[in-house]
Amino acid sequence: MNWWTSLLPLEKGVAGADVHLQYQGQSRSNLPSTTSEVVNKNDVMLLRNRLSRIYFNRNFFDYPLKLNVDSLRKLGLRKTVTFGVSYVVARLRPRKPEVSLEDFLVNRFGNKLYRQFFKEYTEKVWGVPCHEISAEWGAQRIKSLSILKAMTHAIKSALGLQGKAAAQTSLIESFIYPKYGPGQMWEAAARKFVESGGKLLMQHKVVEVDISESQVHRVTAQDSNGLSRSWNCSHFISTMPIKDLVSASHVAWPDDALNVAQGLQYRDFFTVGLLYPKSALVNELRDNWIYIQEPGVDVGRVQVFNNWSPYMVADPDNVWLGLEFFCSETDSLWKKTDEELIQLAKKEMLSIALVNSEAAFDAVVLRVPKAYPGYFGAAYKDFDKLRSTLDKIENMYLIGRNGMHRYNNQDHSMLTAKEAADQIAGGYVDKGKIWAINVDDEYHEEKSPNLSDRAPPAG
Ligand SMILES: Cc1cc2nc3c(=O)[nH]c(=O)nc-3n(C[C@H](O)[C@H](O)[C@H](O)COP(=O)(O)OP(=O)(O)OC[C@H]3O[C@@H](n4cnc5c(N)ncnc54)[C@H](O)[C@@H]3O)c2cc1C
Repeated sequence: MNWWTSLLPLEKGVAGADVHLQYQGQSRSNLPSTTSEVVNKNDVMLLRNRLSRIYFNRNFFDYPLKLNVDSLRKLGLRKTVTFGVSYVVARLRPRKPEVSLEDFLVNRFGNKLYRQFFKEYTEKVWGVPCHEISAEWGAQRIKSLSILKAMTHAIKSALGLQGKAAAQTSLIESFIYPKYGPGQMWEAAARKFVESGGKLLMQHKVVEVDISESQVHRVTAQDSNGLSRSWNCSHFISTMPIKDLVSASHVAWPDDALNVAQGLQYRDFFTVGLLYPKSALVNELRDNWIYIQEPGVDVGRVQVFNNWSPYMVADPDNVWLGLEFFCSETDSLWKKTDEELIQLAKKEMLSIALVNSEAAFDAVVLRVPKAYPGYFGAAYKDFDKLRSTLDKIENMYLIGRNGMHRYNNQDHSMLTAKEAADQIAGGYVDKGKIWAINVDDEYHEEKSPNLSDRAPPAG
């Protein structure tokens, strides 16, 4: 985090010593303050509050879903009792062995709660039934629930008996965020790299990786005009999808590893941005993200860009909403024209009553192929064989999200990059340390009685 603030310091007026960040179960105090008066006031981090909610049945629920009085009231007595009974049944007769994500979720939340809050949404996000996704995915992303703890918490809250420590956990979460969005930090990092003598080639695609005798020797890339150039290399750090890396290497990989690489699957994503006047919102939206659990629509999640940073919206009387759709490049949804997607997005916003009018001032469509590495498919089961084969290439480091075919968030991705850089600078190789990032970390903490931490997807 000190590295982040060395690139983009905290905005002026925010004293680092007073900042207490709390985000997704992690906390941090005493950030370095902006020391220089000459800091460009645009190249700064803002201190922002986090609010994400689930939208279901025209009601907003906490995200991750919490079993508190408010949620139970919105669900109603009948559903609460049904979910409770189904949970008890699941605990008494758990599915064994626990193979799929469905087994994992039913065992922890009960069949009814699973069907209401996890099944449809997870399948919308991943495009495959939960019984085809590995249970490992759940173990990595979703917290277990102590129903007893959750119930005790709900009853204590209702009776006003929450202690001081418990009250602390419900403090509003806050985080630091670049004034003009996450890309701004990487623009600052790129500037610093170039100023320090680094050479950065944008719009170059690696098309060939020359590997022999457990070493990467040479890399060929094509620029946007299709012109190819090659470079010798001492180290090769890769964020390109593993599937592409293996096919660019022309190596006689062992069959088992090659089959896994060729069979890796991905989930694609597009987002439709819609600009409305704030008066078009049915409810005031203070959320960063709204997880859409209403049935019958394709949209999976909505971002409210104003709430990430107000500076990302030119007119404060307007609101930029980012509707997120999860699909595959082969789906008819992906193949629609941008105009058709915009019409669909407007229609869905109106049909779930987040806005009261179809009239958006402006709209934009952005497509992100291979946004999510898939933890499913026959090939994925043998991923470790591919990993150990690639790890043997001594001067090649797989990092990041698609680079490792791992559902890493940006912080994990940065840590994998940092670990690779530390190893190269330190002159040693320990690939296991890179793979150990984002395994058994905060997901296994249990601080507050959430039904699901980072229900899919956090991003
Ligand atoms: C929709 C979405 C929302 C997200 N939201 C969040 C969030 O809120 N919080 C969070 O922490 N994380 C979030 N993430 C995850 C975060 O974006 C990733 O963890 C992070 O960007 C991964 O970093 P990376 O460098 O591995 O991959 P990327 O940022 O994707 O960078 C990979 C780079 O490799 C380049 N590349 C690929 N192939 C080649 C090739 N053949 N030759 C040359 N270059 C190549 C690509 O062009 C790209 O520049 C989100 C991801 C998505 C898709």
